[in-house]
Amino acid sequence: MPTIPPGSTIGILGGGQLGRMTALAAARLGYRCHIFAPDAEAPAALVSAAYTRAAFDDRAALDRFADAVDVVTLEWENVPTVAVERLAERVPVRPGAAALAICQERVAEKRFVQGLGIEVTPFAAVGNAAELDRAAADIGLPAVLKTTRLGYDGKGQTTLRDQADLEGALERIGGGPAILEAFVAFDFELSVVTARGTDGSQASFDPVENRHAKHVLALTLAPARLSAAQRDQAIMIAERIAQALDLVGVLGVEMFCTTDGRLLVNELAPRPHNSGHWTMDACRTDQFEQLVRAVCGLPLGDPARHHDAIMRNLLGAEADAWAGILAKPGDRLHLYGKAQAKPGRKMGHVNRLYPLGGRPERLEDGEDS
Ligand code: AMP
Repeated sequence: MPTIPPGSTIGILGGGQLGRMTALAAARLGYRCHIFAPDAEAPAALVSAAYTRAAFDDRAALDRFADAVDVVTLEWENVPTVAVERLAERVPVRPGAAALAICQERVAEKRFVQGLGIEVTPFAAVGNAAELDRAAADIGLPAVLKTTRLGYDGKGQTTLRDQADLEGALERIGGGPAILEAFVAFDFELSVVTARGTDGSQASFDPVENRHAKHVLALTLAPARLSAAQRDQAIMIAERIAQALDLVGVLGVEMFCTTDGRLLVNELAPRPHNSGHWTMDACRTDQFEQLVRAVCGLPLGDPARHHDAIMRNLLGAEADAWAGILAKPGDRLHLYGKAQAKPGRKMGHVNRLYPLGGRPERLEDGEDS
């Protein structure tokens, strides 16, 4: 496949912080970026050469966008596949519609991963109340009921602890179709961000441990505390999935590590991942540059970790503490340029660096509590 050389224009579907950090990495390598998103406020557009503000079903706008760029990638996996297919008639889209379709629907995603012989949380597809009753009887309680599409950060999901919780549960998540998953008593959550190039080459970042607060990622600890065998297994799982999806780009694979040491895949994200932000300051190549390299057909970079790190998300007003963060020598501040700090909104993140092997179990100044 022909290389898309520096100087070319990369189209990015979606205008959030992931697109912004991709555009910054692209700029460093001499590319221009053109953002396509429906949003009034697009942090990615603020650092890009062009912005098409249009809906994903605006076919004329999609065609004009396709003609203005050399390759298209995305920072939001829920772009309608019909839009991606239309773009793909005129310009390479990486990752493509087939990979996206799987990652957009939780049941298809779990079946796909299971079909590769990789363990997932026990689950059942649920279309209505009767099916929910049956699924709860099969899987047992507690369990987690999730919408099959468009859920994120705990939105569109509810935990069912006892039989009484089943009543009205589908309505509480906005109706079916849904998926019921066994509640996993995990030891900790981890993820692997892996990249795959147009030539099938693959490179993975170290597995990391993720801690959530109110369903939103709060901290990523790099590296995760895994045995050498578990680390290899986590990377093998992520690379196997990326290969089977025939994905070109980066893929975030979220997993649970159970109390008996098994790794279960929870969710796939065919784009840069919040749990990969630590790579910006602690790896030879970061996940955003890796995405640019992958979709442009360049050799993948070295993902090696040169520091341990703890990444802390800055939600809402937490970003107001920027001056104190800047004053700490080991902290690297990243702000997304969002105008309004609504509660829970991801406004930026901080990477705190440690020597290799020197990462503590938590932030020393209690900022993670
Ligand atoms: P998700 O949207 O699937 O990534 O879920 C968001 C978060 O909810 C996960 O990161 C977990 O902390 C929690 N969670 C999701 N599914 C389960 C499950 N089956 N068992 C236990 N916790 C879960």
